[in-house]
Parts: sequence; C-alpha cells; structure tokens
Amino acid sequence: MAETKAKPAAKEPKLANPREASIEPSTQEMIERAQKLGIDTVFDRAVTMKPCAIGLQGICCKNCAMGPCRLPLPKGGIDGEDTRKGLCGATANTICARNFARMVAAGTSAHSDHGRGVAETFLSVARKETEDYKIKDPAKLIQIAPYFGIDTTVEVDGEVMDRDLDEIALGVAEAAMAEFGKHDGTLAYLRRAPKPLQEKWKKEGVEPRAIDREVVEVMHRTAMGVDQDFVNLTKQATRCSLADGWGGAMIGTDLQDVMFGSP
Ligand code: SF4
Repeated sequence: MAETKAKPAAKEPKLANPREASIEPSTQEMIERAQKLGIDTVFDRAVTMKPCAIGLQGICCKNCAMGPCRLPLPKGGIDGEDTRKGLCGATANTICARNFARMVAAGTSAHSDHGRGVAETFLSVARKETEDYKIKDPAKLIQIAPYFGIDTTVEVDGEVMDRDLDEIALGVAEAAMAEFGKHDGTLAYLRRAPKPLQEKWKKEGVEPRAIDREVVEVMHRTAMGVDQDFVNLTKQATRCSLADGWGGAMIGTDLQDVMFGSP
C-alpha cells in the first residue's frame, strides 16, 4: 500500500504585537480583541506585507496608457547626472512630485467634499428647507461671518443694531458654497491665518483660489506632457493642501460647530 504523506500543518499567521503597534491603550485592546476573534487588521497585515521598493521611492508612474514606467534607483546609486526618464521623458523627480501632488489632491478632495456636504446642509438650514438641523451655536456663526465678508450688524436711523441671524446664516451659507468654485480672488478663510503667514503665502505665490480649482489643477498638471518641473508641481501641491486646511476642512468644521454646537 502506498504511503500517504501527512500534509504539513498550516503555519500560524504572523500577528502584530499590540504594544509595538500602538502606544494608545484602547487601540492595543482592540488589536488584542480582534486577534482573539480571528479578525485580521491593518496592524497584522503590516507585519507580513513587504512594501514595494519602487513604490517606496515614489518613482512608478501610470499616469498615461504608455506606462506603467518605473525608474528604480540603481543599487550603487547615481554618480553624476540622473538620466532616468519615463517613456514621455518625465524624470524621476517629476514622477515623484506628480505622485505626491496626486496624493495631496486625493486628501484635499476627501476632506473638502465632506466640507461641501456640510455647507449644503447648512444652506438648507439657512433656507429653512429642513427641520432636521438647527443653528445651535449662534455665537460661532457671528464669529465666522466677517471672514466670509458677511455683516453682523446693520445701521438703522444712525443706530448700529444686530443683524437678523437668519440673514447672516443665509449670507454665510452662500459664501461658503462659493468657496468651492469661485472664479475670482483667493480663499476667504486665508485671512484667519496670522499676518506673517499670509504674507509668506502671497510671496511664494501659493495662495489657493477656490477649493475645487486647486484639485483640478493638480490633476491637470500631473497628466502626461503637462508640467514637468518638480518644483512647480510641488508648489501646486502646496496650494492644494492649503485649499484643504484653510478651505474645505475648516469650513466643514466651523459649520458643524454652528449646527451641532462647538465642542
Ligand atoms: S506619463 Fe510618462 S512616465 Fe508616466 S506612464 Fe506615461 S509615459 Fe510613463
């Protein structure tokens, strides 16, 4: 009778050490709990997955159908001029800057589209189209209105009086929506930053114009054959990230405070 070989026992999967994976006690507890339940998490997968060496250097490009082009750094490094080029002529610096700029655009879209959703909800509140949300923090609304160029007082017969809150809300809601796609000027909220920082942005030419516009410009410039200058590309990535931090994300946070109450 033929001998049957016993199958080798399946290897135990490598699991993350919760203490090494996070310094945060409740996260450590959750990792342990998931492991006990046999649910793998990002922490466990990170133990076994080796990062792609080319991806780690940021020099794989698939921005057009001629690629993907990959420009790994030679083992011995580069002595002299770096002559690496993709099929279209993009250098390693260009590819790396384009990949980074697209990551920035993706992050800006995620935060800012959330901000747009909040602004749309707030516009419904201001137009009295919904009963589901209300203005819970009028003081916050009055605080942010001037940044959008909305007056909070009116003059009646020479006397300065508080403006009607509903009028302020409508003005703020419409101005907030306009920040995403306006055609002129720069973001209204830039004026919230300390003056020296505002001057620095102006001097460097990185003041964002409108939130969506900066994301679109990143996608345009990083397409094949458009912007090849890594410094210029990184400058646009900076403009786009500011459109997120001082635009979409900040508008979303502020209008949530107005509707749900400031924490
Ligand atoms: S854009 Fe250039 S580097 Fe990128 S995949 Fe196309 S040809 Fe290759």
